[in-house]
Amino acid sequence: MAGMRSRRLFARAQKILVGGVNSPVRAFKSVGGSPVFMRSGAGAVLTDEDGKRYLDFCLSWGPLILGHARREVLAAAERALRRGSTFGAATAAEVELAERIRAALPSMELVRLTSSGTEADMSAVRVARAFTGRDLIVKCAGCYHGHVDSLLVAAGSGATTLGVPDSAGVPRAWARTTITLPYNDPKAFEAAFSRWGKRIAAVIIEPVAANMGVVLPKSGFLESLRRVTTKHGSLLIFDEVITGFRLAYGGWQSVCKIKPDLTVLGKIVGGGLPLAAYGGRRDIMRLVAPLGPVYQAGTLSGNPVAVAAGLETLRLLKEENPYPALARRAGELTARIRQEAAAVGVPVTVNSVGSMFTVFFTDHPVTEYTSALQADAGSYGAFFRALLEEGAYFPPAQWEAAFLSSCHKPADLDAAARALGRALRRVPRPSGRRS
Ligand SMILES: *Cc1c(COP(=O)(O)O)cnc(C)c1O
Repeated sequence: MAGMRSRRLFARAQKILVGGVNSPVRAFKSVGGSPVFMRSGAGAVLTDEDGKRYLDFCLSWGPLILGHARREVLAAAERALRRGSTFGAATAAEVELAERIRAALPSMELVRLTSSGTEADMSAVRVARAFTGRDLIVKCAGCYHGHVDSLLVAAGSGATTLGVPDSAGVPRAWARTTITLPYNDPKAFEAAFSRWGKRIAAVIIEPVAANMGVVLPKSGFLESLRRVTTKHGSLLIFDEVITGFRLAYGGWQSVCKIKPDLTVLGKIVGGGLPLAAYGGRRDIMRLVAPLGPVYQAGTLSGNPVAVAAGLETLRLLKEENPYPALARRAGELTARIRQEAAAVGVPVTVNSVGSMFTVFFTDHPVTEYTSALQADAGSYGAFFRALLEEGAYFPPAQWEAAFLSSCHKPADLDAAARALGRALRRVPRPSGRRS
């Protein structure tokens, strides 16, 4: 439960900030309780306004793969800040960052930096529409590509109908430019393409889904998207905002060996500051202004402080290659969670890949959005609140990914596994079962 200072701050915040927060999930609505206000972070540990410490498994929703306040990243950002926080003009460091991005993800032949993932996704979709001269976009139910109008869309009735708005304020006409299909269902994509193929500009997808909780692509699924888009002259956009520099230095595309036409990056690429990127095939990206007719701009795009933090983060990731250790530790932790849950009779499905995972409170496999929605948010809420008391900060919603950073050491994770076991004991068990 949130401490006194957090509760007082939340009361004050609610009078001036919408819902007391600047991004909805921070309000703890889906887990219950009053949100915890954070004061500082160091390594794997967050400290709240009441001085309580948490081992952080949310990590600002993914950017902090090197943990909070990594010394070298701070120093690089501080050096940049001292030289001036923004120029609104070209700088050397943004060239270097773009070169590093392309060296990591060679499919990004030409790159544009932006300030948020939403902006980069919105722009990637715009350039895809311009390149193909088509309007329709295909996305998967449960995938998130920022709060872009035409991407805040739910499936209409039946897999091959056009979409309906998933947010108030999205014009129906916009939603009707989007087709929403089930993740991991190549047949649904084939059906949609046989009906709308000539009108589809692009398929946009999280190559490993993380915004309905972690859901892995089944073998052959992404390959089938590559084939069907190529066949119909549509583009394939990988939204690697979470997976880029997270699951491998080269993103999931370096693991699955599929070359998307466009890629979107965010989160880790900015080293904890507001920075994102999109890029891809030179012949497509050439359409973006000032080379071409697709307008896209930003006062703080390629901001020198964010670029410096991003560059230093990528340099450290390249040098330290934390990925094998991260995956090993996450594998051990998730195995312990499964064991503990089985021991206390709480049904869970733990999906995990590399350093990200989700504990779904369901005994069914979770392979797409409908199965993800079978997870019990009430149980997750009880689990989350128990973990808060134990000093572990998980994402405050069931359908999100938990993350590890390179600062989560085996001893921390051992203690966390025991705390997770105790938290699982406090989740209401399905009736008729006792432990
Ligand atoms: C976080 C996220 C975004 C949006 O990025 P913001 O910087 O929050 O605008 C887009 N796509 C995916 C896959 C994300 O996880």
